[in-house]
Amino acid sequence: MTRIRQQNVTAAQWSSNGRVLGALDLTLPENDPFGANVFSVAVQRDRLPADVFEKLQATLAGGEALDPSLADAVAEAMKEWALEKGATHFTHMFQPLTGSTAEKHDSFFEPEGEGTVLAGFSGKELIQGEPDASSFPTGGVRATFEARGYTAWDPTSPAFVLENPNGALLCIPTAFASWTGEALDAKIPLLRSMDALSRSAIKALRLLGDEQSQRVFTTVGAEQEYFLIDEQYFFERPDLISTGRTLFGAKPPKGHELDDHYFGSIPERILAYMLEAELEMRKLGIPVKTRHNEVAPNQYEIAPVFENSNVGSDHQQLMMQVMKSVARRYGLVCLLHEKPFAGVNGSGKHNNWSMSTDTGSNLLDPGDTPADNVHFLFFCAAVIQAVNKHQGLLRASVASIDQDHRLGANEAPPAIISIFLGAELNKVFEAISSGEGDPHTPASFLELGATVLPALPMHGGDRNRTSPFAFTGNKFEFRTLGSSESLAFPNTVLNTIAAEAIDELAGKLEEKVSGGADTATAVIDIVRESYAANKQICFDGDNYAEEWHTEAEQRGLKNLRTTPDALPEVLTEQTVKAFGDYGVLSKRELESRFEVCVEQYAIRANIEAEMTSSIAKTMILPAALRYLALLGEAGISSLNSEVRGLVDGLVTALAELEEANACPDDLEGLDLAIHARDKQLAAMVAVREASDKLEKVVADDLWPLPKYEEMLFIK
Ligand code: ADP
Ligand code: MG
Repeated sequence: MTRIRQQNVTAAQWSSNGRVLGALDLTLPENDPFGANVFSVAVQRDRLPADVFEKLQATLAGGEALDPSLADAVAEAMKEWALEKGATHFTHMFQPLTGSTAEKHDSFFEPEGEGTVLAGFSGKELIQGEPDASSFPTGGVRATFEARGYTAWDPTSPAFVLENPNGALLCIPTAFASWTGEALDAKIPLLRSMDALSRSAIKALRLLGDEQSQRVFTTVGAEQEYFLIDEQYFFERPDLISTGRTLFGAKPPKGHELDDHYFGSIPERILAYMLEAELEMRKLGIPVKTRHNEVAPNQYEIAPVFENSNVGSDHQQLMMQVMKSVARRYGLVCLLHEKPFAGVNGSGKHNNWSMSTDTGSNLLDPGDTPADNVHFLFFCAAVIQAVNKHQGLLRASVASIDQDHRLGANEAPPAIISIFLGAELNKVFEAISSGEGDPHTPASFLELGATVLPALPMHGGDRNRTSPFAFTGNKFEFRTLGSSESLAFPNTVLNTIAAEAIDELAGKLEEKVSGGADTATAVIDIVRESYAANKQICFDGDNYAEEWHTEAEQRGLKNLRTTPDALPEVLTEQTVKAFGDYGVLSKRELESRFEVCVEQYAIRANIEAEMTSSIAKTMILPAALRYLALLGEAGISSLNSEVRGLVDGLVTALAELEEANACPDDLEGLDLAIHARDKQLAAMVAVREASDKLEKVVADDLWPLPKYEEMLFIK
């Protein structure tokens, strides 16, 4: 058997990781480990002195700052609890601008006089940390010699214990700021935006007659797509190791054309992995609920129940970490890259978003008769207005080099932002704006034509899976996020722009009502005006179609195809104004984010380009030359000249790539990113094309990289 075939047989073998889950009857609620490793409200009630517990809960409910005098008691209880869970260390976990999480571990134990140790953890250590932060990207907020940065405890996101086979770690979610108080992370702006939205929404609710609600929370529930491949192939591919995606690989004869994977029965090894990963997530209090096979071979999806945006966003980061670490226990690698395999569907992350009051009402719940639901119409109109005004910023909020391979690739929404309202809401808004026609959609049932089958109540409209921003029942689903992305920034943007639009509409409402109009009539007037001014953003058709691109351009919608096109939206006047007015990010903080994103793009493009050149030169070209020598020996000239032509093509393309990689020194910032896009990434495409053609002719046992059919179909 050839080397490759033998490896495939090995890769297909797996062991069930010692029946880790086998001992427990997980159908018994008391065996569900949900929250077992979380310093939850229940644990706090149990362990904190009663007065401390009450004060802590009261500050959290009111969204107020914590009384520092509570910190020592909380720290003591947290430490005792963590030690019982086997934790020897603690860390402030934060989210720097790299998009991932950061941690530095400190031991609880300190030496005492007589060669013994004592476990300690003070309120000060809980509340504030001071990591040497000089190596995190700051986008010019700070010079590198100014190393000081602070982490600050976020008491609204529960602390948890992370287990490892050889110990455990107490993780404390924290915010991360510079010495001068500027946000250097993803959490601070998210929390600020949640405050802003709450203030605007409460003000509007008062005008609408709600005297009860005190706070409005934004909610998020993400649907996460990912690939699992055997780790053997992963470690044989330097491109996967260094860039997260395959820089080479010909399309296999079988892709997903047969649609035999989507929602198919989950392969046993994968299901075993999912069960263990979900169990770990449940211990950490992540409310995972749904799992299924996705469209592409070896692609899957996992979705939790929604939570408030801050906790949901923290949990999402943790979830990705657990997904990756548990995969290795099954000989798998979890790929979160947006487009690990060219020509095969990529992975996204649907961001379901809504707003709920502390009294439990979802402001985007249309109820049975949306046409008569004044609250709903008001908030829905505000969202439409916000998305239309800040469409470019929303696009920028999900921009990354990885996303550029996915957006608009007939599997993911295009780079053009538009809103799908669905037939029922469309009818409502059109009727209101034209003042004509019945806005109501009568309840209807679907008869299936077989007497034993029940009549199904029908939704007010079909779904539209091509839409980047779709209303789905009682929430909006922002579908443009990439699978590896943090939820924090897109939700920061959503909250901020919604807060602004709610205020704009509320201002008009106040005017009309004080001029003597009754509230319901005034709301309908405002909704009519706002919808008429913003309906260009609403589109119910096929977002994949070429005609939509033309129509969107005629409508004046933005089509920001690549990251360098999109990022300047972060610094437009209207972005700076909205983020400044609502105290979410100052101009300087926005500039720092812009700079970090631009820099990350250029660096990552360069890594990919260098990696492409290296693999082509040191792995693919030698294989092709060996094959050419074989053909020479065999003396079959037709084959020989075909392969020689392909090799020539590769050598030429490689020379162009090397030239592009030798970038002029004077380029920086956005110019460097544009150079990377137009020169390096373009040259990589040519190298890949030449190589992928060779893959189809060079002897299989000489080919140095695992192929798509192996990575995607061996489970
Ligand atoms: P759908 O099938 O329309 O996508 P689901 O009920 O399956 O709807 O929910 C999909 C995702 O939407 C889940 O992650 C869920 O947590 C989230 N979700 C549901 N309601 C809300 C809400 N009010 N706010 C935010 N996310 C929500
Ligand atoms: Mg969905």
